[in-house]
Amino acid sequence: MLIPRGNGLPRQGQWSCQNVRRLRAAHGSATELFPRDSGVTPACGGASAGAERRRLLAAVGGVGVWMLGLQAAAGPDSSAAAPDPARPAPVLLHKNGSTLAVDLPAALPAARRAILLAWIEESADAIIAYFGRFPVGRVAIRIEAAPGREIHGTTYGEPSARMIVPVGREARDEVLRHSWVMTHEMVHLAIPYMGEGHGWLHEGLASYVEPIARARIGVLPVESVWRDLVDGMPKGLPVAGDRGLDGTPTWGRTYWGGALFCLMADLEMRTLSDTRRGLQQALRAITGAGGNLESEWPIERVLSVADAGFGGSVLSGLYHRMGNDPVTVDLEALWKDLGVIRAGDSVRFDEQAPRAALRRAIMQAPDAG
Ligand SMILES: [Zn+2]
Repeated sequence: MLIPRGNGLPRQGQWSCQNVRRLRAAHGSATELFPRDSGVTPACGGASAGAERRRLLAAVGGVGVWMLGLQAAAGPDSSAAAPDPARPAPVLLHKNGSTLAVDLPAALPAARRAILLAWIEESADAIIAYFGRFPVGRVAIRIEAAPGREIHGTTYGEPSARMIVPVGREARDEVLRHSWVMTHEMVHLAIPYMGEGHGWLHEGLASYVEPIARARIGVLPVESVWRDLVDGMPKGLPVAGDRGLDGTPTWGRTYWGGALFCLMADLEMRTLSDTRRGLQQALRAITGAGGNLESEWPIERVLSVADAGFGGSVLSGLYHRMGNDPVTVDLEALWKDLGVIRAGDSVRFDEQAPRAALRRAIMQAPDAG
């Protein structure tokens, strides 16, 4: 059921995102914003309606960072409040024909302000490189000064695209420069709202595309991408009682289960196209058809438009198999086939592995050969 306009909850998607996965600065200084095994539950509810968010809360049983989601549920339209005279006018960033109106906290040191704006621009560059364009004509990005050192994000599609991004005052500049959060939120902008029950696809796409998009523009090492996939994917596998991706809105199945769906789709497409085309081309078809978070499409339409962009029915077929049934994947065999080998705290690659070419193709820009 959709929530009508004007009742304090957005009808379109609302996402408050924090993957519980290791963040790592590109320069090698490890940063653990959300320890992977801390038991912290993400606030990325993937739900537009309070009822579903409450169900997710009940299912996950988490507290902690769910607080952000709760706050958003209580008053998501705070971002639409009258302009705060204490805040400076938004900075307008023009990217590829789109406008990013960035609302920064007042009294921000000039160096911090420059880092924030560069972070947003770089994230937009990654998104444009992956999707071929920025997915909405205009987005309002409100940066909040928050306590602590964490960086959060919430993205709304209604009444128009906007983000609220609380940035911890104690978040180190290096962490901020290389944070995945902004790119993750911008991926959400590229996908239509799909109604309740399909948060896993929104979060899975954001989780899967974000590191690849950043690696493509050279701001994230390819090894980091695969290391995080190797570390994270087991969390997305079904456990006892699983009812498929649509029916199991736990954190693991939402983020990593969704990301696993994306990886399986990408690999199948790369196999069918002799590595040349993949999930990227499929997702570009959604953007090309005018789909973004400001629109609402049934999941079947999202998948069929993406399938048409690639040619075939890979995504619809996978959804048919994984939507309502627990489908497991032999991840160890998969990594071996792709030539991804755990090596200490990172990974190394076996270029002689049977499907190493697929692994390389995923990280390659579409027109790079
Ligand atoms: Zn998210």
